[in-house]
Amino acid sequence: AVPQVVIIGRPNVGKSSIFNWLAGRRLAIVDDVAGVTRDRMVHLQKWNDRFFEIVDTGGIGVNDVDNLTDEIERQIQIAIDSADVILFVVDVRSGMLPLDQQVAQRLRKIDKPVVLVANKADAPHMDVEADQFYRLGRGKLVAVSTLQNRNKSDLLDVIADRL
Ligand code: GDP
Ligand code: MG
Repeated sequence: AVPQVVIIGRPNVGKSSIFNWLAGRRLAIVDDVAGVTRDRMVHLQKWNDRFFEIVDTGGIGVNDVDNLTDEIERQIQIAIDSADVILFVVDVRSGMLPLDQQVAQRLRKIDKPVVLVANKADAPHMDVEADQFYRLGRGKLVAVSTLQNRNKSDLLDVIADRL
């Protein structure tokens, strides 16, 4: 089977943006309103002669703030069931929020490789902002910007190394 790379993280960190950026086209819906991703989206990626599927897990109903924990549990369940590598996305602009810590806590119990993706590092000086997320725990940290197209090949290299 093709290895599965599952993107998780709280709403609005840029999961769907990362998915589209890696896919090279707009497949998933990106919106300023948190939680606008309708289905699980899958894209077959080729990198360094390897194939893997990237999965965007964002779902409906995330706008309901009462259900954020449910949403995270849903993403974690997809990761447990199907991920070979987990991309845990955080946002350097907003900084760390309690929900990021909630995701990190759930991930600690899962014995799968995790890549921590610090998105919205729109300029090189913002890469240092990403360091605050090291304490979320395991996994290699990669600062990226989908908006400014920063560090895409670094991210793909790190993913491919963990397959
Ligand atoms: P999701 O809820 O995690 O899937 O997040 P989305 O991909 O829908 O993105 C949420 C918001 O973040 C949108 O307004 C995006 O345009 C914005 N966004 C995504 N990537 C970047 C980035 O690299 N830099 C900045 N500044 N904004 C971004
Ligand atoms: Mg989304």
